[in-house]
Amino acid sequence: MSASEIERTLVRLAHEIIEKNNGSANLGLVGVQRRGVPLAQRLASLIGNIEKHPVDIGTLDISFYRDDLSTKDIRPVVNPGDLGFDVNGRDVVLVDDVLYTGRTVRAALDALFDHGRPRRVQLLALIDRGHRELPIEATFVGRTVQTSSGEIIEVKLREIDKDEQVLIVER
Ligand code: 5GP
Ligand code: MG
Repeated sequence: MSASEIERTLVRLAHEIIEKNNGSANLGLVGVQRRGVPLAQRLASLIGNIEKHPVDIGTLDISFYRDDLSTKDIRPVVNPGDLGFDVNGRDVVLVDDVLYTGRTVRAALDALFDHGRPRRVQLLALIDRGHRELPIEATFVGRTVQTSSGEIIEVKLREIDKDEQVLIVER
């Protein structure tokens, strides 16, 4: 995906979030570190502009990690910290760059409920690369890419990488 394709996809996802939640009044976006955070910020800004109502943003820092994507049997660890807003009673959208086994989302849900009781939780992934090991699916998906075991998704975002694109690369 090029920078403009990523941007168009985020615009579409912002509209989908608004549609599914009947607006944005009760919405809060929670980005999963690291690249889920700028994505959540951009979506919050897009939704805020469309709905003329600011959207709360929070972050969860979950690391295991999977810096080495070939390592099996790694456990997500939630780093304690302030989430950013009170999730009690809110419609929360968890935002991450890539959805893979689902283990990070599972850890994110646990961490989220340690902070309070959201009214509902939805999941957004810019890329769903398949290979789930848990019964977890995203509510909002940018692109579904059926990767082979030798492939990973390289996500570059301008806020972090000074470059903006999504590529499939050989491990
Ligand atoms: P899961 O926990 O679902 O196995 O993996 C999802 C987490 O690991 C996400 O937070 C994501 O950032 C990272 N991840 C897993 N696979 C990939 C990948 O192919 N590319 C990138 N950029 N991140 C990945
Ligand atoms: Mg991640």
